Amino acid sequence: MASSNLTRNILIGMGLGIILGSIVHSLDLAEGNPMDVYLIDGLFDLGGQIFVLSLKLLVVPLVFVSLVCGASNLGAGSSMGRIGLKTITLYLFSTAIAISIALIVASIVDPGVGINLPTTAEYVVKQAPSLKQVLVNIFPSNPIKAMSEGNMLQVIVFAILVGIAITKSGDQGLRVKAHLDDWNEIIMRLVMMLMSVAPIGVFCLLISLFSNMGFTAISDLIKYFLTVVAVLAIHYLVTYGLMIKFMAKLDPLAFFKKMGPVMAYAFSTSSSNATLPMTLSTVEKKIGVKNEVASFTVPLGATINMDGTAIMQGVATVFIAQAFNQDIGFAGYVMVILTATLASIGTAGVPGVGLIMLALVLQQVGLPVEGIALIIGVDRLLDMMRTAVNVTGDATVSAIVARSEDKFDLDVFESTDDAITR
Ligand code: ASP
Repeated sequence: MASSNLTRNILIGMGLGIILGSIVHSLDLAEGNPMDVYLIDGLFDLGGQIFVLSLKLLVVPLVFVSLVCGASNLGAGSSMGRIGLKTITLYLFSTAIAISIALIVASIVDPGVGINLPTTAEYVVKQAPSLKQVLVNIFPSNPIKAMSEGNMLQVIVFAILVGIAITKSGDQGLRVKAHLDDWNEIIMRLVMMLMSVAPIGVFCLLISLFSNMGFTAISDLIKYFLTVVAVLAIHYLVTYGLMIKFMAKLDPLAFFKKMGPVMAYAFSTSSSNATLPMTLSTVEKKIGVKNEVASFTVPLGATINMDGTAIMQGVATVFIAQAFNQDIGFAGYVMVILTATLASIGTAGVPGVGLIMLALVLQQVGLPVEGIALIIGVDRLLDMMRTAVNVTGDATVSAIVARSEDKFDLDVFESTDDAITR
């Protein structure tokens, strides 16, 4: 299937899923209705679940094999350290920008002024880990456990160490590397196979999600909801647009177009992690970032870089402060920028995790965490949108780092065809 057809079909699957799901929702079918039982919660839910499970299945093998290959190509030289430093700096920088825009826009819009607080608001705080614990947790004591738990940062550390050791192991290292290169090809092929059924997978996920999703909460929180959506759009178009144009020196429109299908997966799954196979293959085979860079920057980004999440947290903090009539002051805002940026490092890219980290941010500035109960009703839909922004941020930074390291294939970027669906 040609790539433009696949992109078009994914968008059709997405649109149909949302529209039909919303129609089914508005029919307000009685419980036990055959359409609900056999179709929505039956066939489509089954299809959606299998699609997400297959995506997740590929994450650990893909990250491990691809990163060992990437790290062994780079070798233990200084370029690895430089790439690491640049990537992490850019991730932190873009997250700080994201949350700053969120705070500025939210302070202008005042989404939480005049909100009638429900007296029953309740939210049970899950304990967020301390910064020290977050750092200690990066280092695996058991690689198999790290893989079986899908602990991405630990898998990344292990893969980099193995990659470096390969470059220092002479002939043995070369043999293992050749073998892993073959595996890399095979796993990429699996990703491509999955991509070809993505329009159906996306449709199944969205129709069952939207037919079960309540929209009444949105009307009560319309100002909050629209503020988050507007800031997501500003960050996506302006921040990423400028970064791609001036830092990566690439055409932003072409870049956004290539990212379209990845954003659709992110939207449908609400998980940067589950989207990772799609992000990685798109960043390498459609955008042109070489494996040495992408195999490191993309998995790292899916784990630590969440600009969309930070945006929600910024707007939510202002919203909750206003709803509870509390002023956190300028120092409070600076604290929000710092904590939300750091909090994103220890957060896995799975659905809903942004809300857990919001509790940490609220605690830091002395706001009541029960405020989370106010916004929980609209968080599912916002989660989908912010995840789409999260993965675009990973790709943006990957492109910038690759361009600056001369690890970018401009021919791939300029080509309208791509290797993904061939
Ligand atoms: N679902 C988001 C992600 O996976 C994280 C969040 O904001 O909850 O990127």
